[in-house]
Amino acid sequence: MESLQNHLKQFMNSKGFRETYLNLKQQIKSDKDVRLFLEKHKDQIDENMIDRSLGKLYEFVTQSKFCRECRNLDECKNILKGYHPTLIIERKTIDLKYDKCPRKEAYDARKKQESLIKCMYVPKEILNAHLEDIDLNEPNRLKAVSLVQDFVEQYGQNDRLKGLYLYGSFGVGKTFILGAIANELAEKGVPSMLVYVPEFVRELKSALQDHSLNEKIDAVKKIPVLMLDDIGAESMSSWMRDDILGSILQFRMLENLPTFFTSNFNFSELEHHLTYSQKGEIEQLKAKRIMERIRFLAIPVELKGKNRRQE
Ligand code: ADP
Ligand code: MG
Repeated sequence: MESLQNHLKQFMNSKGFRETYLNLKQQIKSDKDVRLFLEKHKDQIDENMIDRSLGKLYEFVTQSKFCRECRNLDECKNILKGYHPTLIIERKTIDLKYDKCPRKEAYDARKKQESLIKCMYVPKEILNAHLEDIDLNEPNRLKAVSLVQDFVEQYGQNDRLKGLYLYGSFGVGKTFILGAIANELAEKGVPSMLVYVPEFVRELKSALQDHSLNEKIDAVKKIPVLMLDDIGAESMSSWMRDDILGSILQFRMLENLPTFFTSNFNFSELEHHLTYSQKGEIEQLKAKRIMERIRFLAIPVELKGKNRRQE
């Protein structure tokens, strides 16, 4: 043992080792970030401390800081992926503290935001929609966007907030606006759910006894902000209209849970659609009852404009 220690001592005192060591130390000390740190804390740091902490300083200079050397999170070269080091002084030595790098921060924020928005049968791509992308020169966009902004601003303060009933023809951007609303809300930390009504109705019809469907209905009832996309494009039995849609809307009215709709129909066209059940019977009173709930929950805004779908 002693001879090994002697050997090490000799080696460390040898000219070759000293030179390499001093060179490395010089290189580390001339790193821009290290220089700034040493300058800032010059009252607390002496050469001894630098020698003691050279391993940490070496680790620091070899790591990427502020994502300067990585193009994306996957390419992060740091020991802890997504974390970058800062130099600190702890108990008379220089140490490192690892924090989330800007890309990891942005990635986590995006993931958190996505987790707040649930989509049922609505493609997730719609979540790339943002309010800023809406052309305010098109008819009624300014009205719709300012109502959305008021909504987002007042959410959480006013517990009797109405949603919007966006109606207009195919391809004018109704669903796109719902996606933008969901994003605005997620930025505020508010969970929402977009449901494509025709598919929801189809699935409920084909699997009445399925427990997962009961869970889905429950989730739709209780989500803080619900968006029913394309109501009126489904074919609805009286059971679906009264027992499912009716009870979802009733619950949301009583609990003051904001609800948005999009439709190709205006209110009176939708009432007409809901009046004729699949069996062809006319049930005006029941349709009127659903319409009362929709009117209570949402402000109608008509959207006109060109069909943006390229098909
Ligand atoms: P609607 O629901 O009224 O039928 P969509 O919202 O599906 O219409 O819009 C039709 C197409 O146009 C979609 O591909 C959508 O992404 C696109 N779109 C709609 N509004 C905008 C917008 N403001 N900026 C860019 N693309 C848009
Ligand atoms: Mg749509």
